[in-house]
Amino acid sequence: MKGAAAKRVMSMPKPLKPEVDKAEAALEKAYLEVIENIGEDPERDGLKRTPERMAKAIQFLTRGYQEDPAQLLHGALFEVDYDEMVIVKDIEMFSLCEHHMLPFFGKVHVAYLPKGKVIGLSKIPRLVDTFARRLQVQERLTKQIADAVQQAIEPLGVGVVIEARHLCMMMRGVEKQHSATVTSSMLGAFREEQQTREEFLSLIRSGKPNGF
Ligand code: ZN
Repeated sequence: MKGAAAKRVMSMPKPLKPEVDKAEAALEKAYLEVIENIGEDPERDGLKRTPERMAKAIQFLTRGYQEDPAQLLHGALFEVDYDEMVIVKDIEMFSLCEHHMLPFFGKVHVAYLPKGKVIGLSKIPRLVDTFARRLQVQERLTKQIADAVQQAIEPLGVGVVIEARHLCMMMRGVEKQHSATVTSSMLGAFREEQQTREEFLSLIRSGKPNGF
């Protein structure tokens, strides 16, 4: 016994998450059908374990559904006497567009003006991942990150900018092969005060190589 079948037998004594194994088996079956229906031979050597690998990959790429952003930030919020802008920029982001389930990827910049509370810095990239590892549109991803920061620490304002390239546009050669899509979500002071917004935008532009 080889491959997926052997793996399933070996992983049988794992009663903790039977629904995961069930989902993985269903995904393997579905991907096998995809391979057949594009005219390939799922039995040839290179493709034999591909459904199994694809099932694991898609579960990894959508694991954000298993994560709760509020829980992630819980325990990482700190009271501070600091009221200058906090910026975490150039956070690498990989997501899947919900229209084609093809990757879009790029950089996320997150800033906020604290009002007595800050978020542990390492949690901001984790927060980005939690939302990015789902089926997304870039606009919603941008807003979800901003809203999560807003809800967690109720700062004076939040700004989120995402610059991304979409493989569904690039690979299919539809248009704009080299252009990036930029989205932003500005809340509170970042929306209302031009100076705050400009400080954020100039800080994320500084030191940036061409493209990104
Ligand atoms: Zn797409």
